[in-house]
Amino acid sequence: MSDRPPAPAPLPIAVVDNHTHLDIARDDGPPPDLAATIAQATAVGVNRMVQIGCDLPGARFTARVVDEHPALLGGVSLHPNEAPRLADRGELAAAQAEIERLAAHPRIRVIGETGLDYFRTGPEGVEAQQDSFRWHIDLAKRTGKALQIHDRDAHEDVMRILREEGAPDRTVLHCFSGDITMARECADRGYYLSFAGTVTFKNAQGLRNALSVTPLEQVLVETDAPYLTPSPHRGATNAPYLVPFTVRAMAGVLNVDVPRLCTAISDNSERVYGPW
Ligand SMILES: [Zn+2]
Repeated sequence: MSDRPPAPAPLPIAVVDNHTHLDIARDDGPPPDLAATIAQATAVGVNRMVQIGCDLPGARFTARVVDEHPALLGGVSLHPNEAPRLADRGELAAAQAEIERLAAHPRIRVIGETGLDYFRTGPEGVEAQQDSFRWHIDLAKRTGKALQIHDRDAHEDVMRILREEGAPDRTVLHCFSGDITMARECADRGYYLSFAGTVTFKNAQGLRNALSVTPLEQVLVETDAPYLTPSPHRGATNAPYLVPFTVRAMAGVLNVDVPRLCTAISDNSERVYGPW
């Protein structure tokens, strides 16, 4: 049972998991039972979640489940690793048209995750990734939705393209992975920084330094489930009910009490995505 850690103590004030993938199973297992996942999270004070679908099947799933579960709002996109594959197969234009259609749903409040991933996609995919990133930025602005950014080993180009295009009013760096300098720059530009379980890892002092300079009004928390399970359960399958571990660790870094951080996360989330 070590893959399903026991539930943490409930948070005193309910928060939002800003970025989760409830359509994705780890290790080819069945996807998690949605109602049970939501109930388990709600029981520990994680009563709202942003479900992110970042390929066509995931985006279709997301547009369906946000109608069935009031705890869920959604995001749709073509992931930075997915866009070059679609472009190679000549399927990108049709896929973008479908994402745009799904994005019109009133409970889809996010365009993303989009951005750049120079870790999993090689140089041959860079141009397609950057084109796709620019397309998603434009879509977020045209639809008035928030933008969620995936940035893996691509900090400089992510920041440059956001400046060139002009970031949407509500821009979130999901699973923030930059250093203290980048955190300051993002905060100055008015972006939101969403921290995942990685901020609890023993070797992540640089990330904790970044969090420590992030204004409370711009802090968010997420799981990125089923990945990035917080300490002390690193390596297990992640799910929204494990958010309290990350929140408590973040409160220590920010030197605020847990209720105050929960209130900030809740308020910030509703400012970015609108009410549930
Ligand atoms: Zn993700």
